[in-house]
Amino acid sequence: MKLTVLGCHSPYPPVDGAGPGYLLTHAGANLLLDCGSGVVSKLGQYLDPKGGKLAAVVLSHLHADHFSDLLVLRYAHMLAMQGTQVPPLAVYCPDVPETERAVIPFRDVLSLHTIDERSHFSLAGMTFAFYRTKHIYPCYAVRIEAEGRSLVYTGDTAWDDNLVEFAALADVLLVEACFTEQNKGENPAQHMSARECGALAEQAIVGKLILTHLPPVGDCAELLAEARAAFSGETSVAFSGLCLEL
Ligand SMILES: [Zn+2]
Repeated sequence: MKLTVLGCHSPYPPVDGAGPGYLLTHAGANLLLDCGSGVVSKLGQYLDPKGGKLAAVVLSHLHADHFSDLLVLRYAHMLAMQGTQVPPLAVYCPDVPETERAVIPFRDVLSLHTIDERSHFSLAGMTFAFYRTKHIYPCYAVRIEAEGRSLVYTGDTAWDDNLVEFAALADVLLVEACFTEQNKGENPAQHMSARECGALAEQAIVGKLILTHLPPVGDCAELLAEARAAFSGETSVAFSGLCLEL
């Protein structure tokens, strides 16, 4: 299983950057995890968005910074389907909020599947399991396993003791680090600090910690230092183009 970071910034992308979007490749199949602003452009560096080479898109939740480019990816996939046997693009996402979910369907271009905490399925030789996180919109952390290797992506979440079990012994933990402990400020119920990301990695005994969902301006030195103070394992910061073989 290969993880390629397409974008990792929120709530908006920096110049030449992109919002959350992660390309998973396994056994010749490609799958997209979240699809924030700019992700389709970044995806084009690895595969032709209108080439019909995406097996599915999995969305952690329906905040615009995590799914806005799906509305554009639909057009690319519409072109992929024209005059070919390419099937509709499978999209797995929560069914709420209804207003956000309602804007996703487009002609016959997408096949929509609802995820919740009981969802468990296989795609392209990878298994997917979900956990409902603490966030203002229903959001699902996802655990992906293939050939004995595992990746856990938290999506957006406040600290939750149960995430420790969900992320236990993952080879890679990809976790949102919007804030330092000091500037977590008004959103303690929606997002984790970098210190909490480190604590989650430490308690879950993961192999590697990657911080993502990063602020679009400023450097991430403080976030990294805070996470490293709480986690004794390998810790790094995501960037567009980061590629990791699990
Ligand atoms: Zn969110």
